[in-house]
Amino acid sequence: MKKRKTSFGLWIFALTMIVSLMGCASSATQMSEKNPDEAIQIVTTIAQIGEPMEVIGGDRVKVTSLMGPGVDPHLYKATQGDITKLQNADIILYSGLHLEGNMGDIFSKLKETKHIFALGESIDEGRLLKGDEGAIDPHIWFDLDLWKDALDNATEELKDFSPDDADYFEQNKQEYFKKIEELKAETIEKMSGVPEEQRVLVTAHDAFGYFGRMFDIEVVGLQGLSTEDEVGLSDIQDTVDLLIEKQVPAVFVESSINQNSIKAVIEGASEKGLDVTLGGELYSDAMGQAGTEEGTYLGMYHHNVTTIYNGLTRSGQK
Ligand code: ZN
Repeated sequence: MKKRKTSFGLWIFALTMIVSLMGCASSATQMSEKNPDEAIQIVTTIAQIGEPMEVIGGDRVKVTSLMGPGVDPHLYKATQGDITKLQNADIILYSGLHLEGNMGDIFSKLKETKHIFALGESIDEGRLLKGDEGAIDPHIWFDLDLWKDALDNATEELKDFSPDDADYFEQNKQEYFKKIEELKAETIEKMSGVPEEQRVLVTAHDAFGYFGRMFDIEVVGLQGLSTEDEVGLSDIQDTVDLLIEKQVPAVFVESSINQNSIKAVIEGASEKGLDVTLGGELYSDAMGQAGTEEGTYLGMYHHNVTTIYNGLTRSGQK
């Protein structure tokens, strides 16, 4: 009896060992499948890049956008914390074309060691708009076709970095691009409802050139292509004259820009007898709060289209 008892005990011991070893093995397998540390670390400047890449990259990526709501990329200076994030990134994606005007030196340094890609600079120059002094307009996310191509190029970078995930990224991208096409069709329909003579979009700085080109709207920015440019009294006076000439019912502020110059235009028009209202706030160089509709590229674009439509058709609604 004693002997049997011992061998039974040994059996239990052996079984326990096997079960616990199996347990270890299975938890190790789970770790390798779902280890969040293995996600590709993407760091972007503007969220107009970061949020779509989060959709396309899905659970294989972790995206950090340095510039949050209300932040002006033209004037943005990287903090020490940003530089650490950039140095720890697997892939860095930025817009380029001098949008992030103060970060040029940082980008050229990072180019020596990091996987870094400028979406704006991946587009053929012939498709880009130029300002009065020949500077390229960097606000290309307002041309839905251009931004789609830029995101497509960024996705190729992602595929090169992680070929095993290429099919997954491609599938997510195709689904996302369908939504961009839907937004484009919807915007064409909406904007064609604005009477031709009222298709004038006045904003604080010249961010909507591509939007205007795409949907046949004249755009006027009080500041130039960069918010580093000054607003002069003559800019305000010329804009007031244009509003009066075309009887434009509304002008717009931008979430990342001081509202004073636009308010001066409204006052100036009012002194000359034209009732111009503030048509609302547009997202130009920064998106809305993450987790809200306006915190997504498609959502902020849709918000702008609705706000512009409502503002410019105001007199028609009376
Ligand atoms: Zn801008």
